[in-house]
Amino acid sequence: MTDVLGNRGKQLNDHQRANLNSLALQAELRERVRGEVRFDAGTRAIYAHDSSNYRQTPFGVVIPRDEDDAVAAVEVCKKHGAPVMPRGCGTSLSGETTNVAVVVDTSKYMREILEINPDEGYAWVQPGVVRDDLSNRTEAEYNLTFAPDTSTHGWATFGGMIGNNSCGVHSVMAGRTSDNVYELDIVLYDGTRMTVGCHTEEEAGQIIQEGGRKGKIYKQLRDLRDRYADEIRSRYVDIPRRVSGYNLDELLPEKGFNVARAIVGTEGTLATVLGAKVRLVHSPPSRSLLILGYPSAYEAGDHVSEILEYGPVGLEGIDTNLIRDMKMQNMHPSDLKLLPEGGGWLLVEFGGENDQESHDNAQKLMDALEDRDDAPDMQLFDEIDEAERIWGIREDGLGATAYIPGEGDHWPGWEDSAVHPDKVGDYLRDLRDLFDNYDYDAALYGHFGEGCIHCRISFDLKSAEGLKNWHDFMEEAADLVVSYGGSLSGEHGDGQQRAEFLPKMYGKDLMQAFREFKQIWDPDWKMNPGKVIDPNPMLSDLRLGADYNPRNPDRLYFSYPQDAGSFAHATMRCVGVGKCRDVDSGTMCPSYMVTKEEEHSTRGRARILHEMLRGETIQNGFKSDEVFEALDLCLSCKGCKGDCPVNVDMATYKAEFLKKYYKGRLRPRYAYTMGLIMLHARLAQYAPKLANWATSTPELKEMIQKAGGITTERQMPPFAHQTFKAWFEERGPRNLDGPPVVLFPDTFNNYLHPETTKAAVEVLEDGGYRVIVPQQPLCCGRPLFDYGMLDTAQVFFDRLVKALAPYVREGIKVVGVEPSCVAAFRDELPNMMPHDEDAKRLTRNTLTLSEFLIEEDYEPPKLERKAIVHGHCHQEATVGLSAEQQLYEKMGLGYELLDSGCCGLAGSWGFEEDKYDLSMQIGERRLLPAARDAEADTIVLADGFSCKTQVAQGTDRRPLHTAQVIKMALDHGTGGTPRGENPETHYPDITLDGPSPDLKTVALVGGALAGGALLWRFLRKAA
Ligand SMILES: Cc1cc2nc3c(=O)[nH]c(=O)nc-3n(C[C@H](O)[C@H](O)[C@H](O)COP(=O)(O)OP(=O)(O)OC[C@H]3O[C@@H](n4cnc5c(N)ncnc54)[C@H](O)[C@@H]3O)c2cc1C
Ligand code: SF4
Ligand code: SF4
Repeated sequence: MTDVLGNRGKQLNDHQRANLNSLALQAELRERVRGEVRFDAGTRAIYAHDSSNYRQTPFGVVIPRDEDDAVAAVEVCKKHGAPVMPRGCGTSLSGETTNVAVVVDTSKYMREILEINPDEGYAWVQPGVVRDDLSNRTEAEYNLTFAPDTSTHGWATFGGMIGNNSCGVHSVMAGRTSDNVYELDIVLYDGTRMTVGCHTEEEAGQIIQEGGRKGKIYKQLRDLRDRYADEIRSRYVDIPRRVSGYNLDELLPEKGFNVARAIVGTEGTLATVLGAKVRLVHSPPSRSLLILGYPSAYEAGDHVSEILEYGPVGLEGIDTNLIRDMKMQNMHPSDLKLLPEGGGWLLVEFGGENDQESHDNAQKLMDALEDRDDAPDMQLFDEIDEAERIWGIREDGLGATAYIPGEGDHWPGWEDSAVHPDKVGDYLRDLRDLFDNYDYDAALYGHFGEGCIHCRISFDLKSAEGLKNWHDFMEEAADLVVSYGGSLSGEHGDGQQRAEFLPKMYGKDLMQAFREFKQIWDPDWKMNPGKVIDPNPMLSDLRLGADYNPRNPDRLYFSYPQDAGSFAHATMRCVGVGKCRDVDSGTMCPSYMVTKEEEHSTRGRARILHEMLRGETIQNGFKSDEVFEALDLCLSCKGCKGDCPVNVDMATYKAEFLKKYYKGRLRPRYAYTMGLIMLHARLAQYAPKLANWATSTPELKEMIQKAGGITTERQMPPFAHQTFKAWFEERGPRNLDGPPVVLFPDTFNNYLHPETTKAAVEVLEDGGYRVIVPQQPLCCGRPLFDYGMLDTAQVFFDRLVKALAPYVREGIKVVGVEPSCVAAFRDELPNMMPHDEDAKRLTRNTLTLSEFLIEEDYEPPKLERKAIVHGHCHQEATVGLSAEQQLYEKMGLGYELLDSGCCGLAGSWGFEEDKYDLSMQIGERRLLPAARDAEADTIVLADGFSCKTQVAQGTDRRPLHTAQVIKMALDHGTGGTPRGENPETHYPDITLDGPSPDLKTVALVGGALAGGALLWRFLRKAA
């Protein structure tokens, strides 16, 4: 059976590609589709990947607005003979979400929950709805949930879950996605739209009689089923996680001729799902988590079945290698201590209608186990917080096992095979032996309660020999799991990676049945071809492969320690988890949270950089405008460095890219205005009144902002009449016999917010310290990184290290009040100067104020007030906020740490002329509303200069720095400033009085400006 192009499930040839990539296809799509139609190189590069080892560049991408749009897109593709690949979040691990096709991405607009019917226990959703968006709502309102919860539950879509027949920890309660689907609204490649469900034989007969395309399909399905019924009954394995192959068993009369469930798990190879009626099941509101420690994961696996008898709602396993990997990477250091003794663990979750009931359910199992000779070590967690910490260990399995220092890279490939839960222990032993035969390393963990085992394996995917070994291993692993009566895939699907081995599991006849099944729905053979049935070979279309040879740049400014100094490896770090597409929590990724564009996610950016080095779709290397566009809306907030499970560090990659992108070109004006703020501020200190007058006089302000490429929507922060350093020099130090500490006078808190640094002096002196403030002009150069001015940044670092070396050689600590500067000392500095011993000392000895005070056991004054706390994104990613939290607790402050992510201003980014709207939208997600909603006398607390500025310019509140809050307690006692008043009225960041050098020095301003201009020119050349 071949189509008009003589093609069946295979790659199109070049001629066919050229035809399909034609303007006619694009033009008609643009005419018919109201959503977005993108055939540009950047989009195609970004969509060439899912989370697997595969890479195929699509013709283009359609982002439909609604069902009609999706139907129109498919119809146009049919007319032009273009293959179609539906796509959700693209987190698949077997290559099923990459294809040389037109991608129909439903995840941006088709996110509507159409109906929730709690009485009958179902919901209708569009395919782009994220699983948690439905379940969070139904759990909160009705204690109902959609049970399958993939580890990607916060961003994976229903379309994708249906495509892959996804499962999760709580599938133990109610099965796979196929067990939780009632009806599907679908469109076929030929444009036929229909709703399919579960039918009695009579109903099916009725549909057949009614005729039409649907009747014909139902008749063909019934005939197919009847012809293969015996084979299906004998070869389909009866295990909870049979996900491989098509669900032909669902068509058997005893299963109710369930056409909807038969379509689940077909990986986009039959039809595009436009809507789904899914089952909602009761979700016990209380949970207790029991951890059982066994000598090894094998023993843990041996006990799975008996534990299932106690009715857990989740039963997961982890082995000692996973813990080893986490320890090597310093992941979850304190959480790992919560695990009981052992070398393999079962995480057994019990549910109940109340806390007592879930506790009692867990206790029953503990009572039964404790008298036994082989009783495991046990630890019960009834508190949600502690349980979440343990779940965090399990959920970070993939991140922990991808790039293990010294152990090489680990990849998917055999990452979700499944056996009967009775056989987990033995299967794990045999699988480990197989790894050993191939000299492969892997941690074993996963859904032991349903016999599904996860692992990333140290395959060599870059040499011919390595690829052959991988293929041989897959053959043997497939034989092994089939010998256990298991399934090649227990939740991720077959895609291209495992499809080749399906005959081992199903035999020749059922493979023919699969072929006919596909043919019934997709006689053109154009839905996601080359996957599941008649697949492209496992070793084709690889992301790496024996010919992988990225164009690594010659000169790098950063050392990429996690990637052995390789920029190419850094751009490949992304394992596609998709957490950067979480729009509800964390810092990563603020631009995606607002635009919901793949290219504005960390993942999209990592992939386009990877593509840039490949030089195929993106051909202009570091001069590529496509790459620039994807990176332009990156706020360099470092959210990804902190939140991404494999620490993709886009801010660093962006700086490296921009340095090369701008080589020989002028940067935008804002790069010189904002990137060199430290120089302008130094000039302004000689005439602050003049500078403030200019930036606050409406016409002048606008002129200056326009000339500087700065948005006119923003106020320019005024310069202090007296800088912090001048103030300190005039005032002199106290506690002359006290232990010394260096207070770093960063650009922002020296020239713009000196009251913050003054408060820090008072706090440190309250602790008995002798404060040292270096008087030479120093700056960590933070803004320079945002514009790729890396030569200049290097000069600044050199100067900084030289100036502070005498102190840190003595072991004197350097305290920074600006979190982004501390982050530069701790992150960029060692990355840029990895071999400089003084730089290392400086990195080790630089602390935030809170870190220093906690380390020194400072007893802060009590302050019985309420506060909302916004952490600076750089600090969260590199330093963390635990010291701040400890300090506030010591003070007795009733604080709430906001999950507010990046403030949206991100240094100077939100000042750039074209970023204002997005900057404000990011701020409006959480931070600005929280500040507005705070009661008048609640302290709004934020240490970052940009965070404070964003709140001050976007609300009628102005955050205080931790130093100012401690000072408030020192000044006013336990109660703080008068109740009912905004506390910040008593603690300005800047006072515009005090001595100013204007009159004396105004004559020098012209000369200084001229000097500055010369310096600027010099630096422009250098940068
Ligand atoms: C770190 C990590 C952890 C994971 N953990 C789990 C886990 O615990 N359990 C689990 O089951 N899976 C897991 N997965 C795999 C993956 O996240 C799930 O399969 C998920 O449900 C896929 O959703 P998606 O929106 O990303 O789908 P996509 O990858 O976009 O699509 C998946 C398949 O569905 C098809 N498809 C998408 N939309 C439609 C549509 N509208 N109509 C028809 N077909 C469509 C696609 O063509 C593709 O074949 C994990 C993946 C990663 C990277
Ligand atoms: S960037 Fe990080 S979070 Fe985003 S998909 Fe890649 S690995 Fe996952
Ligand atoms: S640095 Fe921030 S904005 Fe940029 S990719 Fe990472 S999380 Fe997104």
